[in-house]
Amino acid sequence: MSAPHPALTLTEELIRRPSVSPEDAGCQILIAEHLARLGFHNEPMFFIDTNNLWSVHGSEGPLFVFAGHTDVVPPGPLEKWTTPPFEPHYREGYLFGRGAADMKGSIAAFIVALEQFLQKHPNPKGRIALLITSDEEDKWVNGTVRVVETLMQRGEKLDWCLVGEPSSSERLGDVIKIGRRGSLTGNLIVHGKQGHVAYPQRAVNAIHQALPALDELAQIEWDQGNEHFPPTSLQITRVNGGHANNVIPGEVKVEFNLRFCTEQTADGIQQRVQHLCHRHKLDHQLDWTLSGDPFLTEGGALLDATREAIREVCGIETDATTTGGTSDGRFIAKTGAQVLELGPCNTTIHQINECVRVEELIQLTSLYERILEKLLT
Ligand SMILES: [Zn+2]
Repeated sequence: MSAPHPALTLTEELIRRPSVSPEDAGCQILIAEHLARLGFHNEPMFFIDTNNLWSVHGSEGPLFVFAGHTDVVPPGPLEKWTTPPFEPHYREGYLFGRGAADMKGSIAAFIVALEQFLQKHPNPKGRIALLITSDEEDKWVNGTVRVVETLMQRGEKLDWCLVGEPSSSERLGDVIKIGRRGSLTGNLIVHGKQGHVAYPQRAVNAIHQALPALDELAQIEWDQGNEHFPPTSLQITRVNGGHANNVIPGEVKVEFNLRFCTEQTADGIQQRVQHLCHRHKLDHQLDWTLSGDPFLTEGGALLDATREAIREVCGIETDATTTGGTSDGRFIAKTGAQVLELGPCNTTIHQINECVRVEELIQLTSLYERILEKLLT
């Protein structure tokens, strides 16, 4: 039997390190060892509770970045796994283990692609970096966002960034992500005056105050979306208020979330909602949490190279979309870099018995190598 593909061996080694977010469990030390052997300069960046790694090869030319995360989501009930989540196993052409698809397999493919690429092209026409965090799955506070802040303070310019998130749907390369919608949460508290239900003239019902405003809020047509994004949507996700059937509530708390496209800005949305509350003369308090601005890579060398590489290696035309939740791509896009996401199939991510197809991981390595060749030789 021939030796296993090096991307599989490395994925196995990463799966054995139980890096439940924000733990890294030694994954980045292993990655840094591989990169040091390839002539990369490793710069670990530790923030509060999170290990991050910024590692650079070369000293001039445009900067290409592979970005990813070593942390994984918790395995869930262990007895439901066919084999233990942190012990890699092969079955029916798949490699099983927590993080196999999201996204230790992609990180292993980055590294093996770089090994193969640098062997053939020891002096590429540009710099190559890896941005690895252990804070993607849970809090997004001390990971990529902090590394990007540090790089921007230094005036570092990122040109192209490929995030290894599992973007594929049915087969490798069928879907890439060229952007994501923004996510904004509003927390509204409407105040009234608590009182006895039998004496409404002495109270102000906070729920009654809020209802017409909420009705209007839910019916706003924000935009029609555009070529790349579906329309912006607002969903009221929680309403809390009231005590008992003889008490007029003096307060109601409302939470709502918007998934917004590039036709909106977070500021614009906030102003519009604030204005609505004032128009309804609500005695209120309104706080916001912005989880991410929308981003979009409409075209450019990275997208061209990726489309061509998928055509050559996988023999299919890829579908460039902006669907799905948020990703660390939103932080990296702030640097002005072209950003896109390409990784294995996402069918089993975050599930019991997470797995990646062996052939797919080998093909992904070739795909990453081909993209490097198109951009840097
Ligand atoms: Zn992921």
